[in-house]
Amino acid sequence: MRQQIAAANWKMNLTYVEGQQLLKDIFDENIETKDNQEVIFGIPFPYLMMANEKVNTLKNFYVAAQNCSNKKSGAYTGEVSVDMLKSIDIKYCIIGHSERREYFNESNLDISEKVDLLLGAGMKPIFCCGEPLSIRDAGTQNEYVEKQLQESLFHVSAEELKNVVIAYEPIWAIGTGKTATTSQAQEMHAFIRSAIAKQYGQEVADAVSILYGGSVKAGNAKELFACPDVDGGLVGGASLVAVDFVEIIKALK
Ligand code: 13P
Repeated sequence: MRQQIAAANWKMNLTYVEGQQLLKDIFDENIETKDNQEVIFGIPFPYLMMANEKVNTLKNFYVAAQNCSNKKSGAYTGEVSVDMLKSIDIKYCIIGHSERREYFNESNLDISEKVDLLLGAGMKPIFCCGEPLSIRDAGTQNEYVEKQLQESLFHVSAEELKNVVIAYEPIWAIGTGKTATTSQAQEMHAFIRSAIAKQYGQEVADAVSILYGGSVKAGNAKELFACPDVDGGLVGGASLVAVDFVEIIKALK
């Protein structure tokens, strides 16, 4: 079975001490993961080293940055490069989150450059895609998401794609409490997998984990993760509460 992943995205929340406490509360639960399961914490840059130190002692637990620069290095004040993340042993990086696309004007081209830098460094991108409400209402969500994949991701080789995790996050479901129904999630995940199969073949499509994001909670995770093409979740709000995130981890297949 392909990897089933519970990924936290803390976004711009929690102080250092609060972050330490949250990790401690989660680790105190002594969660046993199966070989096909992973838990990833997408946390703010200043806490990455602290979190990595703690997480490195746990099997199948990893830390992710929430963003990286699309430039390799140089005079880009305030940016954090892939090589910097690599040099402190971070394995994953969330890229293309809708909040970055919307508030920081990230384009599909910017995101494709981040994909290349991450894969080139041997890191794993958690590649976010997903449509706004206007597109969902117009019924053109498949075309919209396929364009995001084509323009930012599908230039990589089949071997490289196996190191990418895709997160489908319908924007209308993020932070709104309005989760996609299981059939909406399954339909889109199956569509994304078929788009991968069309481009790379079924074997590659079957190997890529596709996470659902958008108001995943302790109460709906099990039902969502039970969908055959949903391989876990990318979780915002509920990942900030230890008991909730622990339940979400336990809901993995
Ligand atoms: P919420 O779980 O708060 O809806 O956020 C989802 C998300 O954006 C994860 O990246």
